[in-house]
Amino acid sequence: MEVKTSDFVTRVSSRRQPSAIRALQPLVGLPGMISLGGGLPNPDAFPITGISLTLSDGSQIPMSDEQLNAALQYGPTRGQPLLVNELIRMMNTYHHPKLPWDECLDILVSSGSQDALSRTFDMLLDENSAIIVEKPTYPGALAAIVPIGCTILGVETDGNGLIPESLKNVIEEHHRSGDGTKIKALYTIPTGQNPRGCTTTVERKEEVFRICHDANILILEDDPYYFLRYDFFDGRGEGDHWAPPRSYLSMDEDGRVLRFDSFSKIMSSGIRLGWATGPKPFIERLNLHMQAGSLHACSLSQVIVGEMLRLWGREKFESHIQKAQLLYRNRMLKFKEFMETHLDGLVEWDEPVAGMFAWMRLKGVKDTKKLVMEDCRERGVLMVPGNAFYADGDAPSPYVRASFSVAPLDKLEEAVRRLASLLRERS
Ligand code: PMP
Repeated sequence: MEVKTSDFVTRVSSRRQPSAIRALQPLVGLPGMISLGGGLPNPDAFPITGISLTLSDGSQIPMSDEQLNAALQYGPTRGQPLLVNELIRMMNTYHHPKLPWDECLDILVSSGSQDALSRTFDMLLDENSAIIVEKPTYPGALAAIVPIGCTILGVETDGNGLIPESLKNVIEEHHRSGDGTKIKALYTIPTGQNPRGCTTTVERKEEVFRICHDANILILEDDPYYFLRYDFFDGRGEGDHWAPPRSYLSMDEDGRVLRFDSFSKIMSSGIRLGWATGPKPFIERLNLHMQAGSLHACSLSQVIVGEMLRLWGREKFESHIQKAQLLYRNRMLKFKEFMETHLDGLVEWDEPVAGMFAWMRLKGVKDTKKLVMEDCRERGVLMVPGNAFYADGDAPSPYVRASFSVAPLDKLEEAVRRLASLLRERS
C-alpha cells in the first residue's frame, strides 16, 4: 500500500484512543474466560423472548437463542461476526479486491452509509483540508462536510458520470490557486448518482483512479445504488450470475479507496445498516470514531440481515436484487413515457441506467427555486430544486430532481402533467 494514513487523518482524529472496555470485547468468548469486565446488562432483565420475521415469499427467518442473545446485547464495534463474514463474502464476489483482507483491507458495519460517511469526513477533513465533490452532489454529504469549514471543490458531471478531464483541471487549478489547503479526497457517487441519476463508466473510473493516484488523493466511493442497476440480465442467460462493472474498490492497489455500501435500498432503509470497506488503518480509525459515537450499529438489525444473507446464499440474494432492479427499471421506463407524453420539448434529461432519480433541466427557467418551492407546491407537486445539490446552495440552478421510486404510477403521471402545464403557462 502506498498511501500513508497520517497524511490524511486530522489532528483531532489522530488523538482518538481505543476504549479500554471495548478492547475486552474480543476476549469475552475465549474458552475458560470469566468476564467481569464489560458493562453488559443481564438479558434476564430484557422482556423480549423471541423475534419472528416473515419474508415476502412467506418464509421465516428463524432465530436461535444464541442469535437472540446477540441481537439484544451490545456487540463488537466492527459488526456482528455473522454479518461481517457475509459482507466480506459479498465484497469478494462482486468486487474481487486486489488488496488482501487480513493485512490491508477491513470492514466496519455502520448505521446506514450516512453514519460511516459523516464519520469519515470528520476523520479526514479540517479547516486546512479540501475535498472534491461532484456537481451536483448528495445534500446529506454536504450537510456533514460544509460545517467543517474545509475548502469544497466541485467537479463537473454529465450523463456518463464524473468527467475525468474536469477532475484534472480542478486539481491543477487548486494547486495554482495557492489556497494552502491539502486536497484529501474525492467524494463520488458512481452508480445512479444522487441527484443526477448518472452512472460513471468503467473507462472513466479507471481514468479517475489514475488521476487520484498521481495526485495522491483518497477516493470516497459512496455507492448506495450499486444494486439498483437496470441491466441485471442484459446480455446474459438464465442462471447466469450478476456481473456488475468494476468499482473503484476493485481497482485499488494503493490503499486509497474507502467504499460505502448500504442495505437501505434493497432490504430496508429503517433497519439502518450500511458498511464501509477500505484500507485497514483508515477503517481502524473509523472504528474509534464509531466507538465514541454510537458504540456500534444496531445488533438486532445486524443479526437479522446476517442471517438472511446466510440463509439465502448467492442465488436467492441475486434473485431478490433482480426483482428490485426490475422494479426500478420499470418505474424509470414509465417515468420516461410520461415525460415523453407530457413534457416533450419542455425539459432535458439523461436517461439513467440505475437508481431512482431523474435530473431535469427545465428549458427557459434560469432558477428553479421559486417554481419548485412555491408554484409546484401550490399545485400539489413536491420536487427538489437543483440548488440544493451544490455546496454553494444559493446559486441559481435550472435543474430539478424528481424521484420516481414510490409514487403510484397514476400519481407519477399526474405530477408530470401538472409540471408540464405549469411550464406551458410560463412560456
Ligand atoms: N449516500 C447517498 C448518495 C444517498 O443517496 C443516501 C440516501 N439518500 C445515503 C448516502 C445514505 O443512505 P443510508 O440510508 O445508507 O444512510
